[in-house]
Amino acid sequence: MRLLFKCLVVLQICVLISTVSANDVKTTDVYARIKAGIDAVSAINTHDHLMPFEKIGNRDRTDHGEGMTLRSIWAGSYFPWIHSLEPWPEDGSFDTWWSKAQHNFANARATSFYRYLLPAFQDLYGIDFDTITPKQARSLNDRIFENYKTDKWLREVITERANIELMVIDAYWARLDFTTHYPFTVALCNVTSVVRGFHPSEFDNPLDNPYEFARHHDIKVKTLDDYLAVLDRIIVSAKKGKAICLKSTLAYNRTLRFENVSKERAATIFGRPRKELTGREIKDFEDFIMWRLVELSAKHDLPFQIHTGQARIQGSNPMLLVDMIQENPKTKFILFHGGFPWVGETGVIAMRFRNVWIDSVWLPTLSYTMARRAYQEWLEAVPSNRIMWGSDTGTAEGIYGATLFTRQCLAEALAEKVVRKELNEQDALRIGRQIMRENALELFPQLKERLWRK
Ligand SMILES: [Zn+2]
Repeated sequence: MRLLFKCLVVLQICVLISTVSANDVKTTDVYARIKAGIDAVSAINTHDHLMPFEKIGNRDRTDHGEGMTLRSIWAGSYFPWIHSLEPWPEDGSFDTWWSKAQHNFANARATSFYRYLLPAFQDLYGIDFDTITPKQARSLNDRIFENYKTDKWLREVITERANIELMVIDAYWARLDFTTHYPFTVALCNVTSVVRGFHPSEFDNPLDNPYEFARHHDIKVKTLDDYLAVLDRIIVSAKKGKAICLKSTLAYNRTLRFENVSKERAATIFGRPRKELTGREIKDFEDFIMWRLVELSAKHDLPFQIHTGQARIQGSNPMLLVDMIQENPKTKFILFHGGFPWVGETGVIAMRFRNVWIDSVWLPTLSYTMARRAYQEWLEAVPSNRIMWGSDTGTAEGIYGATLFTRQCLAEALAEKVVRKELNEQDALRIGRQIMRENALELFPQLKERLWRK
């Protein structure tokens, strides 16, 4: 009787283990093959914020001089968006910082904003951050400090370890400067600031200032028509500077509902400073300019990347863009971040309009589970050549983590479909290559001349 009971217990445990592993596709051979296929793709990363090396921020004043620390990596990550991070101490000592900072992570262990960096610590430094000891933390900090003494570490991690061939940089710190700072980076034209160009007093950064651009190019700006000519000229310059698309992050500042405001109305607002305008007038002017930019995007054949979802969430649902998308069929719209959390809405927009692409950039970092589900739902609703990805961060460790997170998430999504017999394995591998690389080359054919791997 006792033996029978023991056997039953063992049997129950076996059933439990097999159910658990059957539910985790990562334990299957199909997943291993698809993951290996996706890891081998020399990736085209459609969006990142990697600054020129000397500008990479959050460096700390330590007892060995100024440099990048473990705090710098976390401070430059998305973790501080959801949790406080201990500031660097006055005494410049890592041990002082860590004695407090080690408690910052306890309530964030399950969040994607914490977890996306873990693969970087594990794979690049051999450290499990979930169980890190004070001694390991000090050693990790010292190694980070050493690695950032030159830009060699960046190049090695991004191009070799993360296997990224090209990376499109959104230089929000110098939006109208199309210089690239690394052989593997590509420029874009961020038009967020020019939308509010009703008056020169709107701009304090000369590298964001369309009036400064006009002065530099000897263009007089007296009328709204002059201003529109400057916008055209900016986009021509961007294209000459090898920028591959336009980009808007207006979702952080205002609603994504852009009305088709008349030129007469916009002309009554142009040339007046903000203090003389109502909120309604400012919005109308911005709406008018956004429509003109959407037209210029089509005219110059530069697709338009638009931040949707997580930002100013009262007005960042991608559905708010639908009228503008419908009225501008020649513009190629790229809906960023999968519209998180409105991933289903993003799917139906891309299903309905052939001039819409979905970029899953940042989505696995926002919510890994939602990203995995979104890849499956989108692939059911949208042709597989209209989905892309990007890392959207600014340190070697962040880029590595976000890239690995995306490759793993996509491999899981595809392997689950193969296991459920909703997709064959060869097609899953092809879709993996499309999302990680081929779709960006198809949408931005000028990238082909920038490829450097033979
Ligand atoms: Zn971004």
